[in-house]
Amino acid sequence: MSDIVCNKSAHMPTEIVSRWAAHVAERFDVSNPGSSLARSGIGLHVSQAPVRALGKVVYGTWDPLLRRVEVFACHEGRSDEDVVATLAHEVWHMMEDARRELAGQPITPDRDEQAAETFASAWVRQLGPNAVRKCAAALRAQAGIGAALQCHTNLGALGIGE
Ligand SMILES: [Zn+2]
Repeated sequence: MSDIVCNKSAHMPTEIVSRWAAHVAERFDVSNPGSSLARSGIGLHVSQAPVRALGKVVYGTWDPLLRRVEVFACHEGRSDEDVVATLAHEVWHMMEDARRELAGQPITPDRDEQAAETFASAWVRQLGPNAVRKCAAALRAQAGIGAALQCHTNLGALGIGE
């Protein structure tokens, strides 16, 4: 019982979380986020609109059963940093569960939200503005936003739709 309480209140130290973020960011293919996750057998689903559930706005989820990271709200109204931070936040939860699996612990809904936020901002910092822009663009393209922009650009090149 005391172990459970202890685990619940324990946060992964910031320094360790930041080091993990640097490690993962270095190996992450920002121009193809889905392929980086696919290498670990993780799916990536991206959509334009945020999900409204139980009176709050949800920007992303990690589903341990489907082994899928979902990033919502990739619309232009959110900054590149926010979109990439959402991805990073969910990747942290995915890693959290992977660690539990490796340790033979049950997957529970307990999440270290503080560590997820630390990880996300460290990841965004580690990537830097160019990589963040690239990653956000790739996510938006997957959500179908880039495709629409691309189409508009092509029409413009043909002298149509200007
Ligand atoms: Zn979270």
